[in-house]
Amino acid sequence: MNHTKKTALITGASRGIGRACARTFAAAGYDLYLTCLRSEQTLLAFKKELETVYHIKCHTFLCDAADYVSVTCLFSYIKALDVLVNNAGISYVGLLQDMSVTDWDKVIATNLSSCFYTAKCAIPLMLAKKRGRIINISSVWGNVGASMEAAYSASKGGINALTRALAKELAPSNIQVNAAAFGCIDTDMNRQFSKAEWEAVRNEIPADRIGTCQEAADLVLQLAQAPAYLTGQIITMDGGWI
Ligand code: NAD
Repeated sequence: MNHTKKTALITGASRGIGRACARTFAAAGYDLYLTCLRSEQTLLAFKKELETVYHIKCHTFLCDAADYVSVTCLFSYIKALDVLVNNAGISYVGLLQDMSVTDWDKVIATNLSSCFYTAKCAIPLMLAKKRGRIINISSVWGNVGASMEAAYSASKGGINALTRALAKELAPSNIQVNAAAFGCIDTDMNRQFSKAEWEAVRNEIPADRIGTCQEAADLVLQLAQAPAYLTGQIITMDGGWI
């Protein structure tokens, strides 16, 4: 048994950025805990693939990141953890005055409260190891705000503030907390946009293209492996967009 193996939990790993993170961490030799909301079969097939290709251990769970009880249930299976990647998230596009209170609560719970729930459960495990990394997936809209995405922007702005504050709280305990704030990444989250809207966005991006999930995952792994003195940072990766 390899005692130097590290373990990472990635939420929302059935597709998109979370799935790319899982593959990238597996390739780097991490054992994995992967969650998603309801795509159990997809995640199980992915687990088998990762274990076969990368010779790591992978555990999969259905877990609603927006629900504290569901998160505590997940953590009852996790005995040690080196890296927590808070990736699960949803978007909401629409005018704020038309948004229902239920939809507001869902965006804030899924994107922001989830980071509190997982961190609350993960910190004792990291304190026991005297080290740990928490990486929160944020967005450029958390930095500058987006019209028609006020709730989403508020949730990601909240993540940025949580990241900075928690980093100060945990630095004395050798636990680093950073966030990756992505611009436009090619995932299902953006499928609602028409071809013309995609083109309009692309035209605004100096790099002249949408980012890939692999690029996002590469940054997350680099944050997991960065020098321990890097903490409390919101690293924006957006092709020079914002
Ligand atoms: P996606 O919709 O492709 O994937 C989202 C994942 O989150 C899925 O696996 C889904 O099952 C999971 N999820 C959603 N609600 C959940 C819940 N309540 N509990 C557990 N899992 C849940 O989206 P994506 O683009 O890969 O987004 C991943 C993260 O990256 C999100 O936090 C998103 O806000 C952020 N982000 C995305 C972009 C982009 O352009 N795609 C830009 C900036 C930030």
